[in-house]
Amino acid sequence: MKTPCVAKCKNNEGICSGCFRTMAEISTWRHMDEENQVRTINEIRGEQSTHTCQQCGKPAFCDISAGKSSCWCFEISRRDTSGLETDGTTCLCRACLSQLPLRDH
Ligand SMILES: [Zn+2]
Repeated sequence: MKTPCVAKCKNNEGICSGCFRTMAEISTWRHMDEENQVRTINEIRGEQSTHTCQQCGKPAFCDISAGKSSCWCFEISRRDTSGLETDGTTCLCRACLSQLPLRDH
């Protein structure tokens, strides 16, 4: 499967601002089998979702909810979610999370 890179790819603190893959997903992409690639794309596009993003209302995918031991959001720099009017119980979608400012260290 071809890379989903959309020619505006930019590393936005661990997540691509163009295709919303994490740097880990981009670096392992060539070594993934097609089934994994398709699944990853479907999760990013919201065709596979575990919940709805509280920020934008679009489908979002949480790896933990799906039964995995870690989530894509662990791989990117921590974002500051304190200004959001969400209850914090579910993750944001990749687009919303990547647009937030970084959390102060
Ligand atoms: Zn969202």
